[in-house]
Amino acid sequence: MSDCLFCKIIAGEIPCNKVYEDGNFLAFHDIHPKAPTHVLVIPKTHLVSLADATEADSALLGQMMDRVRYIADVELNLEVGYRVIINVRAGGGQEVDHIHVHILGGKTLPF
Ligand code: AMP
Ligand code: ZN
Repeated sequence: MSDCLFCKIIAGEIPCNKVYEDGNFLAFHDIHPKAPTHVLVIPKTHLVSLADATEADSALLGQMMDRVRYIADVELNLEVGYRVIINVRAGGGQEVDHIHVHILGGKTLPF
């Protein structure tokens, strides 16, 4: 989507601090980290939010969570634990309308 920030990052039009990339997903460090490790995982296809997903997106969502686990365990070495957050729509704190998973870790997180 041409006016989507994360689609521009996927296209290489806006730089990112990349952690992981494959044919379907990209992960990069959040520009305003809220924990010592704060990484975003996004699909390369534009899907606005979890609330906009349908059953047709089930495989994509499952693959995304599989990548989240791999990135947290293998790329980020967060064996001690981490938090996974998906903000949904404005009322849920979603600011970028391209679905993304936050991985937060690197310290004991408050409740
Ligand atoms: P959300 O509030 O769930 O939509 O999360 C969007 C996240 O994207 C926020 O944590 C922002 O700090 C982060 N963000 C915004 N612009 C960029 C960027 N250019 N590179 C990396 N992270 C970004
Ligand atoms: Zn997008």
